[in-house]
Amino acid sequence: MLFGTDEQKQRWLEPLLDGRIRSGFSMTEPDVASSDARNITTSIRRDGDDYVINGRKWWTTGAADPNCELLILMGKTDPDAETYRQQSMILVPMDTPGVTFVRSLPIYGYHDQHGHGEILFEDVRVPVGNLLGEEGSGFAIAQARLGPGRIHHAMRAIGMAERGLELMVTRTMSRDAFGGPISDQGVVRTWIAESRMEIEQARLLVLKTAWLIDQVGVKGAATEIAAIKVVAPRVARAVLDRAIQSHGGGGVTDDFPIARMWASARILGIADGPDEVHIRSVARVELKKHRV
Ligand SMILES: Cc1cc2nc3c(=O)[nH]c(=O)nc-3n(C[C@H](O)[C@H](O)[C@H](O)COP(=O)(O)OP(=O)(O)OC[C@H]3O[C@@H](n4cnc5c(N)ncnc54)[C@H](O)[C@@H]3O)c2cc1C
Repeated sequence: MLFGTDEQKQRWLEPLLDGRIRSGFSMTEPDVASSDARNITTSIRRDGDDYVINGRKWWTTGAADPNCELLILMGKTDPDAETYRQQSMILVPMDTPGVTFVRSLPIYGYHDQHGHGEILFEDVRVPVGNLLGEEGSGFAIAQARLGPGRIHHAMRAIGMAERGLELMVTRTMSRDAFGGPISDQGVVRTWIAESRMEIEQARLLVLKTAWLIDQVGVKGAATEIAAIKVVAPRVARAVLDRAIQSHGGGGVTDDFPIARMWASARILGIADGPDEVHIRSVARVELKKHRV
């Protein structure tokens, strides 16, 4: 929407918005530490009226869905350019010769409905018109895209935490041990209260961030976006862990949704940048305030 040409939007964005097709974003690579996107090695080489792509990606979310027709791939158009101008993004239709869907990656054994794909690109040839923006603008596009996406992760984490707390309360109220409902135990009441307090703190930070995005835009809210990307999944993991404990053996089965939600909350500390990278950004801003 932000960077496509009218032609690209008509071909891809409209069917995406209509829900007729899905897309995946291919940046992360198995062979390099991709939390530092400067490491990306996939090459996008100009050859006449085409670009030729070679590389291996993994964790392309959504790519296993039968309706996934488009990949937005990040690679290097010019490895000799200035560090943040080497990368570009390009549109790659899934059915282009040379694109091989290798496997769908599980998360603690769970397979996502739309899949997380490992994908091989071997001499994949697409027209030059498939480039998003200009050569070397890959980093700028990634920043514009990933920021707002992160607040959605935080919102989903709050939802999972709420569900976990509700299950914790109803389960412990409905089962008796040692002379009364488990929910009467002081330790369980502490879990319940701590969970409620943590959820409300995280919810307020998400609301503040959403408000800031509206007021000053994604760039101005970058620190808060980084913060909620860490805080909300952390709260969800803590609450869901207590919810699992409060369900006893049932908590780790798939008879209840808590184990699966915990697995989802766990990956949110890695996907879209690991916690440490976001924490680093928050620290950098804090340190800058005191630099003379
Ligand atoms: C479920 C899921 C969905 C994903 N979806 C997508 C997708 O759709 N498209 C896509 O391109 N990628 C996707 N990813 C990939 C994800 O963005 C990367 O896994 C993540 O950026 C980390 O890169 P890496 O796996 O190469 O880890 P590495 O870069 O090897 O890092 C490993 C660990 O090193 C530590 N570390 C790294 N940097 C620092 C630092 N500065 N300070 C301290 N510690 C540090 C962190 O603990 C980090 O987890 C997804 C991942 C998962 C798990």
